Amino acid sequence: MATKKKTPKTKTIVKTSKANPEFSNLAGILAGIRRAQPHLLPPDNIPPSVWAEQNIKIPVGNAVPGPYRIHNAPYQREPMDMIVDPNCYRITLEWGAQVGKTLLALCVQGWAMACSPRSQMMMQPSEGDLEVWKETKWNPLADDSDPVKKALSAGAVNNRKMISYPGGYMFFAWAGSPRTMRSRSAPLIIGDEVDGYQRTKEGHPMGLLWQRSATFGDNRFMIEISTPTEKGFSYIDDQFRAGDQRRFYIVCPHCEEHTLLTWDAVSWPGRRENDEENAKFINEFEDADAHLHAAIHCTECGTALNDGERVKAIRVAEDLGAGWKASRRFTGHASYHLNEFYSTFRKVSAIVRDYFDKLKADDMQVFYNVSLAEPYDAGGERADPDSLMSRAEVYAAEVPYGGLYITMGVDMQIDRLEAEVIAWGLGEESWSLGYHVLWGDPLTSDPWDQLDDLMSGEYLHESGQYLPVSAICMDTGGTSGMTQAAYDYAAGRTGRRLFAVKGVGGWGRAVVEKSVTKVQGQNKRKTDLFLVGTDEAKLVVSRRLLKDKPGPGYCHIPDDRHEEWFKQITAEKLITKYEKGQPKRIWAKQDKARNEAFDCRVYGYCALKIAAPPLRRIAARLGLSPDTATSDKVRKLKRVGPVVAEPREAKTGENDSPHMVKPPVKKQNKLVLDALQDTPKRKRVKKRPRKNWITNF
Ligand SMILES: [Zn+2]
Repeated sequence: MATKKKTPKTKTIVKTSKANPEFSNLAGILAGIRRAQPHLLPPDNIPPSVWAEQNIKIPVGNAVPGPYRIHNAPYQREPMDMIVDPNCYRITLEWGAQVGKTLLALCVQGWAMACSPRSQMMMQPSEGDLEVWKETKWNPLADDSDPVKKALSAGAVNNRKMISYPGGYMFFAWAGSPRTMRSRSAPLIIGDEVDGYQRTKEGHPMGLLWQRSATFGDNRFMIEISTPTEKGFSYIDDQFRAGDQRRFYIVCPHCEEHTLLTWDAVSWPGRRENDEENAKFINEFEDADAHLHAAIHCTECGTALNDGERVKAIRVAEDLGAGWKASRRFTGHASYHLNEFYSTFRKVSAIVRDYFDKLKADDMQVFYNVSLAEPYDAGGERADPDSLMSRAEVYAAEVPYGGLYITMGVDMQIDRLEAEVIAWGLGEESWSLGYHVLWGDPLTSDPWDQLDDLMSGEYLHESGQYLPVSAICMDTGGTSGMTQAAYDYAAGRTGRRLFAVKGVGGWGRAVVEKSVTKVQGQNKRKTDLFLVGTDEAKLVVSRRLLKDKPGPGYCHIPDDRHEEWFKQITAEKLITKYEKGQPKRIWAKQDKARNEAFDCRVYGYCALKIAAPPLRRIAARLGLSPDTATSDKVRKLKRVGPVVAEPREAKTGENDSPHMVKPPVKKQNKLVLDALQDTPKRKRVKKRPRKNWITNF
């Protein structure tokens, strides 16, 4: 393009000079030189933090829109400017939410485009993450920054894989695509959310990129950014430890000592020793306003700092001689740790409220990773069948008070379907309602007809109302013919909240990813297929089975559950395998152990995640509490309610036990025999008055 434009201009000048030998267009030439001058001058040699304040505008929709001000996040200055430190080649940011880690990277990227041109590579965990980053972070910033806009408008390439600018390219890569990673390299490599990257046989993608960039010698620089994940498996946490471990110190306005803002230094009325105690305390004596009295204290003198003092101390820390301090010797790799308490636009009370919410929702890992920027220690022990069995209980009703929304998880086998029906309450506390085995070849209509019956069943809630099965997840794995059978069944049943799912392995995936629409069969019917992150979903399920006290996440099991079910639901264990020195977590079970019950529970949980029902509103509709039902209130209701332990009697046609061997007739009790012979007809109460139904949505 550029050469084409130049050619006619030269011709014009030649013509003019021929027509007029006195060279009359001097003014025009001078104007041209003046126009070209800014492009001919080398860019200003200023560090990224200074350049960013002059040239970066934070798009509307962010916490603090408008011109970029280092004042709002003074801890960003040092890591941002390390790129111009000739002794530094790598920085690692193990940072929490709301402290601007992506923005920091954006500033460096803009600077490396407009001010100190060089090629760079931007990596995200997946192609989808990359698209979101481009749409919501990069494009708005590039549109609002004149030097970046100018650099990009002078570039010749702008496509999905790269953009160009005078002096370099920005290549895009994502961890799921080894091809994009292997084919390119650049002297500046930025990896965002690196803990979400799938490790390959050769190692972690960032390590591979670093090796590839060796050709750039001393000019290469790597920035890796992430919130951590699980203890022992967090790449960013490992890298933080490998670096010089810098933490941001403030000067206490009361004692003038240097202190860190840490979670241990946060107090609120009723704070207990650990998360479990806190959860118990919150559930029993919930004081809705406890977080409002939260405060963070100086670790030296113990004085509480209010939000104003805290923010001011962060802003002036470096001026007062505090700021980033390393705990190990610097050898070229600077590593930084920062939690959410350093955010200048988050209140301590709001972070504590988040903690309460995560406690109630049994989502502690997110709080540790995202707010505290700490890896989460999940334990890793597997629930054992005996202890699970020992706490099986007699329900006060078919669905006890706490159960609000019913899902079903269906696993497909070569000669049968297996299904678990589960009621979910606030905090995703669950009550297993039944486990069913539907014999029949999935390529025939037999098991599917039985599944239809099971799906239309209703369950008597302790409040006297009936609850339907509201969402169903069905596995579509297995051989291709069976997958087709599952698709055929699922097609057209989405309206009944039946979701076809396909399990995909890998850590850091969402439990439920967006659906892909498959067009199947001769009738070209459409099926929505949801991808399910089975490794993560299994982790949630197995951790919850370990909980031994009712509350968020706890799994209630009826006392008539078959022994085999307990073996199956605890069949898989998370183990660590080393491949070429790289730790790899995988789910493993003993050779011949069956695990259908575990799979069914995972799919039942996925159904809840896809449907995402408004549990609080459902609780209100059931009349369990006036407006905002809390799990506490529900539990209290349960306690004062008619807890009459009516022994459940085996009813004809009722099938509540798994039976795994076919034909296991002689070993089975009457209940199972019935089930083997009959279609499970679970309470087909079709003609109930509709007014009391929970229909959801
Ligand atoms: Zn102090």
